[in-house]
Amino acid sequence: MPIRTRSDALFAAALEHIPGGVNSPVRAFRGVGGDPFFVESAQGARITDVDGNTFIDYVGTWGPAILGHAHPKIVAAVQAAAVRGTSFGIPNPAEVAMAWRVKEFVPSVQKVRFCNSGTEATMSAIRLARGFTRRDKIIKFDGCYHGHADSLLVKAGSGALTLGCPDSAGVPADLARHTLVLPYNDADAVTAAFAAHGPGIAALIVEGVPANAGLYLPKPGYYELLTHLCRDAGTVFIFDEVMTGFRLAKGGAQELYGLTPDLSCFGKIIGGGLPVGAFGGRADIMDHLAPLGPVYQAGTLSGNPLAMAAGLAALDELAAGPVAAEATRRTGNDASGNPPPHLGGYYDYLDALGRQLGAGMVDAAKAAGVTVTWQRLGSMFCGYFTEGPVWNLSDAMRSDRTKFAKFFHGMLAEGIYLAPSQFEAGFISTAHTPDDIDATVRAAAKVLRTI
Ligand SMILES: *Cc1c(COP(=O)(O)O)cnc(C)c1O
Repeated sequence: MPIRTRSDALFAAALEHIPGGVNSPVRAFRGVGGDPFFVESAQGARITDVDGNTFIDYVGTWGPAILGHAHPKIVAAVQAAAVRGTSFGIPNPAEVAMAWRVKEFVPSVQKVRFCNSGTEATMSAIRLARGFTRRDKIIKFDGCYHGHADSLLVKAGSGALTLGCPDSAGVPADLARHTLVLPYNDADAVTAAFAAHGPGIAALIVEGVPANAGLYLPKPGYYELLTHLCRDAGTVFIFDEVMTGFRLAKGGAQELYGLTPDLSCFGKIIGGGLPVGAFGGRADIMDHLAPLGPVYQAGTLSGNPLAMAAGLAALDELAAGPVAAEATRRTGNDASGNPPPHLGGYYDYLDALGRQLGAGMVDAAKAAGVTVTWQRLGSMFCGYFTEGPVWNLSDAMRSDRTKFAKFFHGMLAEGIYLAPSQFEAGFISTAHTPDDIDATVRAAAKVLRTI
């Protein structure tokens, strides 16, 4: 086991001053047992703790680090912006450049507003949809996490799942009753909900790909059905791409699935590692926002020049793509059976690494005699310790979490950092190499034999 004297001392101190010792619950390792390590620095695909242990990192700060940690172009952009001033509270040019970039990547976005987190983006999009339709009810799906706003903390995933408290205390029942929660991938359930409540439903919100209860994918035709039901009922279709945006393709999951949502929400990658969220879509809806319209939404630090500089550098780099992605030539069987998307640039490289990891993990599990259902899309993945297929939250809940916890700690001891919860997706970055993936598969082959 790695030495962790300093991490343990810091965590003991943190517990005295910060609830649970953390500023976001999943970081506390409650889903796997044990205590978190404290990070000294991170570079590329690696993260180094305060005791000097270095890990190959598949958390990538929960998604944002698609270009790896401390990417030189992002660091330079932040440094250059910082000396010009860290916040103005009045428009700065980077906001316009960012808006232009987002619209270029995501054609369904006609107008966009920037905020400071994914939570703010989804919360604001819901308010906007309610103000636009003058309706109260919203539909969300079991296991989909959309941040921690009150209306959306009903049967949510992510930390809310790991901690076994899908509903939060402090959310008024009067508010929660406006949120209809449906099982994901169930065409009959959503058709029936629209039949019963259609004219009262302001918005339907769904993740680009549900990635806060592990990772599972929409059945063919399911998102088309959601689109049609929303259109017929005059319901605003909100696509939460906080995780999938700029991750699965430049245009996110909506590009992969050929969708045109009314509103989309962004976060994580869009800030290049700084706090940025955004929501955007149809101009006629977006123009209901203050100061043009009656829906209030604001932020002292929204469009912050430092955060915009980091986000813009990240999106610019994703737009430019790699000079040479030699590893795209590596092939293997795709464990999930997805057709390889031809996305170009970094996305082909990420997909190739995802494929390599999936094939290796499936072989390693088979050799060790452990049942693992490996789910993957592009550079996102999750291994469930149960028979497949996994199509929704109740399938995901069948996973053997004791086995996952053993796997997690075994991998950590081998220098591989996976998300400390069964119900989180893993992420590959452009800084990972085929050799990193090979090392990860070798470690897994060893660890799986001990489970
Ligand atoms: C992370 C996440 C959010 C919340 O974003 P924060 O920046 O953590 O507030 C919302 N929706 C999805 C799909 C997410 O993965």
